[in-house]
Amino acid sequence: MAIRLFNTYSRALEEFRPLDPARREVKMYTCGPTVYSYAHIGNFRAYLFEDLLQRHLESRGFTVRRVMNITDVDDKTIRGSRDAGVPLAEFTAQFKKAFFDDLETLRIKRADSFPEATDPREIAKMIEMIGTLMERGLAYQAEDKSVYFRINKFPEYGKLAHLNLDELRSTGRVKSDEYDKEHIGDFALWKAWDEADGPVKWQSPWGDGRPGWHIECSAMATQLLGDQLDIHCGGVDNIFPHHEAEIAQTEGCTGKKFVRYWLHCAHLMVDCQKMAKSLGNFYTLPDVIAKGYTGREVRYALMRVHYRAPLNFTWEGMEESRVALARIGDWVRRLEENAKKENVQRPTPNAQRPMEEAPGFHDALDDDLNISGALGVLFETIRETNRRMDVGEMDSSEAKAWLEWWKRVDQVLAISGEDAGLPAEIAALAEARVQARLAKDWRKSDELRDELAARGWEARDTKDGQKLTRRGGA
Ligand code: AMP
Ligand code: ZN
Repeated sequence: MAIRLFNTYSRALEEFRPLDPARREVKMYTCGPTVYSYAHIGNFRAYLFEDLLQRHLESRGFTVRRVMNITDVDDKTIRGSRDAGVPLAEFTAQFKKAFFDDLETLRIKRADSFPEATDPREIAKMIEMIGTLMERGLAYQAEDKSVYFRINKFPEYGKLAHLNLDELRSTGRVKSDEYDKEHIGDFALWKAWDEADGPVKWQSPWGDGRPGWHIECSAMATQLLGDQLDIHCGGVDNIFPHHEAEIAQTEGCTGKKFVRYWLHCAHLMVDCQKMAKSLGNFYTLPDVIAKGYTGREVRYALMRVHYRAPLNFTWEGMEESRVALARIGDWVRRLEENAKKENVQRPTPNAQRPMEEAPGFHDALDDDLNISGALGVLFETIRETNRRMDVGEMDSSEAKAWLEWWKRVDQVLAISGEDAGLPAEIAALAEARVQARLAKDWRKSDELRDELAARGWEARDTKDGQKLTRRGGA
């Protein structure tokens, strides 16, 4: 069966066909984190949806070449490093590390590369692209010395977001820092250096400065994957202006269609509002883990709702995920026990044999990653096979076949087995501190708090008990 995906560009479900169908290779670019603070679980909803997509494509025989960028220079990172009084690279390093730790905890497959915007090779590519846009009249340097993209010269601008250019047009005053622009919607390709940037600057034909966020992605995507991509993903908030700008810049340089399928996931919400740093309504992964949940429980909780439907984050939802995973775990253990048994039971004539492709499960995912349908198939299978085990209808070879079926399903879900959870040494210190407090050994409790702090974890005592947060987090 063909895979169908909802393309934001056409606003329609389309059959997925990669640029090079013979090689079955998929070039996929996913916008990564801006490393000015710790990622929250809303960000990870986006990365988990991309992980599900990659794993499903692989289960259907595609080879996925994925790139995820790291935005390690922009207004927020510069401001953060200045406020912290440390160099930009040092400031962002801590958040890069935390990001990779979190990816591992959530079992998100590593991309083939994680290019960083400040890499000299990437900066060179950005400058080269801006130069091409200047030559073609698609960019101009304004009086403020910054270089802007001229959206009026790119008739396709607005097609992805389905926006009318006139809607963007300024009707009244524009902010003074945008006064030099020809059109309110023109966006910065190169931002001229100013004092607030401190030592953060690169040389360019247009003077010292730094790249705009949008050109970073165009450059890193084409540098590593070529001029044309099969799939480009992100959260819905990336559609405009970020992805719209990526199209304009890249196609403005190459003259070729940049992306075949644009996929965007809906937001993770809290009380009907987007989970966001700016709203202060967010949890980091360590926040949730400190409440006693495991990485795979969070993974399941964030993945179980269709990627285009908003998902409300609640602690009840976390409990439901825990129950679901326990149910799956019990079922797998039961199958394993049955598989070990001698073949004494005789299968009844209507014995169900799982088929090679985990039918139903993968078929549901073919339909624009219909995860609810796929999980429905899984739980129906669990119910039915449990019933057969209850009445002794399943022999060991059938149990083995179901375990094989589950293995294929879990290559996509990646939710079985043990959890790494908190790093073992941190978990041990945290547990020792809980014991010390129970024994009212306050000195020991304080020592353990210091030891945790030395390893980058903050222990706080709340009415719900000890809460662990990675320092600098929520
Ligand atoms: P940022 O670090 O803000 O550039 O965001 C990284 C990724 O997370 C982007 O793809 C965003 O669209 C996505 N994102 C941010 N907030 C949420 C949210 N509440 N739910 C889902 N995705 C989000
Ligand atoms: Zn991007």
